[in-house]
This record gives sequence, C-alpha cells and structure tokens, in this order.
Amino acid sequence: MQAERSAAGAAASEAIVEARGVKKRFGRLEVLKGITMDVRRGEVAVLIGPSGSGKSTFLRCINHLERINGGTLRVRGHLVGYRERDGKLHELRESEIAQQRRGIGMVFQRFNLFPHMTVLENLCEAPIHVAGVRPAQARATALDLLERVGLPDKVNAYPGKLSGGQQQRVAIARALAMNPELMLFDEPTSALDPELVGDVLEVMKQLAEDGMTMVVVTHEMGFAREVGDYLAFMDGGVIVEEGRPADVLGNPQEPRTQAFLSKVL
Ligand code: ADP
Ligand code: MG
Repeated sequence: MQAERSAAGAAASEAIVEARGVKKRFGRLEVLKGITMDVRRGEVAVLIGPSGSGKSTFLRCINHLERINGGTLRVRGHLVGYRERDGKLHELRESEIAQQRRGIGMVFQRFNLFPHMTVLENLCEAPIHVAGVRPAQARATALDLLERVGLPDKVNAYPGKLSGGQQQRVAIARALAMNPELMLFDEPTSALDPELVGDVLEVMKQLAEDGMTMVVVTHEMGFAREVGDYLAFMDGGVIVEEGRPADVLGNPQEPRTQAFLSKVL
C-alpha cells in the first residue's frame, strides 16, 4: 500500500517542463535572463506579466520555435533541440525537432485555423498527414474532440462561419488531435469579445481537470486562481515572483507585482 502510494506520487511529480536558467537574446536584447521553472505532470502553470516581459518567447522556446542562448530546457526529460551523446550536445535535425514538437500542442491568441478547410478537415489534417493516423480513426477522434469542446454540430462548418470563441475551441481541439502530453496557451482569450471568453476558459478548465499538463499565458486572473497550480509573474525577462496563484495574487510581496496587479485586477 505504502509502496503503491509512493510510486503514484513519483509518477505524479514527473517534470514535464524543466527550465534551468534559460536565456534568450534577440541581437543585443536579452529577452529571457535566466528562467527557472518546473511544470510537473498534470500541473497548470500560469504566466502573467506586462507586455514585452518575455512570456511568449518562453513558450516559443519550450516548443523550439526559438533557440535558447543559455541554460537548459528539458521537455519530458529530453533537452529541447539537442541530443546528449558521449557527454556532448548534438543539435537535432529539423525532422527530429518536429518529432519533439509533436508531443506539444500550442494555442495562440489568433486562431490560425486553415480557412479553406472545414472544422473536420482542420482536425484531421495533422493526424493523417503528419502522424499517419488512418482517416477513419482520425475522423472518430475529431468527432470526440468536437464533443469535448462543445461544438459537435460544427463538424462541417468553415472557420469563417464561426465566432472567435468557437474558432478558438476548434483550435484547442485541433491541438488535442495530435494527442499531446503538454499544452501551451499564449493569451488564448485576449482577442475574443468578452462574452466569448467564458466558453474557452471552461474548455481549458475541463482539460486541466482531465489531467492535462498546461502552461498558460493569460490576463484572466480568475482562471489563474481557480485552475492554476503555480503562477509566475514575469517582468523584464525574469520571474519576479512565483508561487501558489492565490498567494501571489492575494498577497504579492514584490513592488513590481503589486503595481502590475493593481492595474489588472
Ligand atoms: P510578452 O509575450 O511577454 O509580451 P515577448 O516574449 O513577445 O513578450 O517579447 C519580449 C521581448 O522580445 C520584446 O521586447 C519583444 O519586442 C522582443 N522580441 C520578441 N520576439 C522577437 C524577435 N523575433 N526579434 C526581436 N525581438 C523580439
Ligand atoms: Mg506575448
């Protein structure tokens, strides 16, 4: 019994994202100045902070859309973009990077659906053409996912006929269609009309409750408090303050965090 419990505990605490002193420069501008953060399996990590603080860049590093200049970054135990062999680091080829990326779903502020494809085609595209899933299987999974995001009746609609909130829920379903172990969200509700935000947050909350590991950049403090396990306030490329969302939001210690929260809360 005891052994069982500790084994389960070990599995639950497996780090999916392990960032150690991650640095990123664009030319002479150092945008990330040493980000250290763990996101464990099943956890929801929320990143907040002013525009330009490096939140999107950090997400893009996790997904290897940007190459880091310092520190180490592991996703599911693997160094992002490199292989370790004989104590040396070897850069991965593009095809290997694509392979690493496959386990990560990303949802952006803008929905990025393929406008000339139906919802079903959007959801089946990568599973069939990238992952080699059989069409019938891809279709069945897509229908399940549309059910999950509350849009089963939109299966044959084109994105242009959907509201922004519906498009974003389709974008979430499309990311899930590749069966990711980690989902990254970059301000998924910032471009939406206020009345459409709730449905998208509800889908994300459900996903979190189902155990998905998530890193979420958002200005939705209610979501952060309710769904987040961990929250980091970033400013100027560093984590200024971090901890349980209720603690950081309810009782911020750093003047910069206090100033930011007094504007957004
Ligand atoms: P946030 O998402 O917190 O608003 P970003 O990560 O988008 O911040 O940007 C952090 C800083 O990096 C900003 O100063 C931005 O202008 C700069 N930046 C981001 N991407 C690039 C790029 N590709 N080239 C040059 N500068 C960039
Ligand atoms: Mg951003």
